[in-house]
Amino acid sequence: MSIAQERRLVTAIPGPGSQERLDRKKAHVADGVGTTLPVFIVEAGGGVLVDVDGNHLIDLGSGIAVVSVGNAAPAVVRNVQEQVAAFTHTCFMVTPYDGYVDVCAALAELTPGDHAKKSALFNSGAEAVENAVKIARVATGKDAVAVFDHAYHGRTNLTMAMTAKNMPYKNGFGPFAGEVYRAPMSYPLRDGLTGEQAAARAIDVIEKQVGAANLACVVIEPIQGEGGFVVPAPGFLPALAAWARDNGVVFIADEIQTGFCRTGDWFASDDEGVVPDLVTTAKGIAGGLPLAGVTGRADLMDSVHVGGLGGTYGGNPVACAAALGAIEEMREGALDERAREIGTIMATRLGELAAVHDVIADIRGRGAMMAIELCRPGTTEPDAARTAAVAAHCHQQGVVVLTCGTWGNVFRFLPPLSISDELLQEAFDVVAEAFSATA
Ligand SMILES: *Cc1c(COP(=O)(O)O)cnc(C)c1O
Repeated sequence: MSIAQERRLVTAIPGPGSQERLDRKKAHVADGVGTTLPVFIVEAGGGVLVDVDGNHLIDLGSGIAVVSVGNAAPAVVRNVQEQVAAFTHTCFMVTPYDGYVDVCAALAELTPGDHAKKSALFNSGAEAVENAVKIARVATGKDAVAVFDHAYHGRTNLTMAMTAKNMPYKNGFGPFAGEVYRAPMSYPLRDGLTGEQAAARAIDVIEKQVGAANLACVVIEPIQGEGGFVVPAPGFLPALAAWARDNGVVFIADEIQTGFCRTGDWFASDDEGVVPDLVTTAKGIAGGLPLAGVTGRADLMDSVHVGGLGGTYGGNPVACAAALGAIEEMREGALDERAREIGTIMATRLGELAAVHDVIADIRGRGAMMAIELCRPGTTEPDAARTAAVAAHCHQQGVVVLTCGTWGNVFRFLPPLSISDELLQEAFDVVAEAFSATA
């Protein structure tokens, strides 16, 4: 690793070099494209981001759960360099190449279940979700789509309709696609229900307000991402999947944020042995290059007419080479196990923090996907102001932390799986300091 694995602040955050570039951004980039931590990055790897001013920041975000194998991971760099020098694009729908088929074969092997599976590749998570819905509609001959409170599925028209939160994702961008219905999510902190009870509640809403006879698919994040890292109570996902199976409804797990070793398993559905009919993947799949997939039961995938699935860039050869490199890094580095170790460290540190700061109402997540929810002490009233203050302090001190949640009161911790224990501990020292400083 050529980048020193340490936090090193040589200027204020943002420093003068980033400040200057921020002015250029303001002049040339649409204001609608916001930034969480406005330092301009020149280099990154392991658990560190280096900015134009020479500051070394600790990364607890992985570019939103994307560079799980680390930035510029060796096998990704090697594969991309070889591929980019050989050819950059033919369009798989015009003249195919091995990388695309290799990624689909790997997806069949790695995703939950040992039934016959096939895949199709796309550019972004939202595009994968859209295509999963297209496939479910053709396969079932039905239209309706059931999603959940706090869900996040993307920013395209259909996926905006499927996403729960108005600001900033939907506000002013309608009208949205129709035939999308929202059911209550299992949210243990706020509903106190068992998984079975929460599933019965959701199924009742779906049956009464939509009807299984009209429902093509249920789409759910096994652990919710942007919506607040909500982990459903045990039993919720298996009960929903069983109901879908019994009622001719396609069960789609959106594993875009949870997939590829993030939660300590290859996929979050593995934890309770849930076998989805279709799985959507993106984010962690290709070490930072844009790639997404829909993988699932071969009979469902093959229900679409020839030419019905695709896109100019979907499964681009460079992105596929990167994915094969990322999967190699995950397999050889046993990064599912590493995610569990990271999860143990984070859970310990967050438990210590919650014992001291009663604003922390909940610690949840799995593996290297952990969160804390901040509420006014003794209540479940969200405390977004304190969350923002703690985040600002962490950023000033050179630790990249991300927030999320319907009420903006959740910290989500998504370190790259290539981070060292020392760096991770130091990052949580800073988080602890931030809680004390803002108390
Ligand atoms: C990020 C995300 C998406 C959208 O992916 P994009 O690549 O940003 O389009 C969809 N679903 C989940 C669960 C996500 O976390």
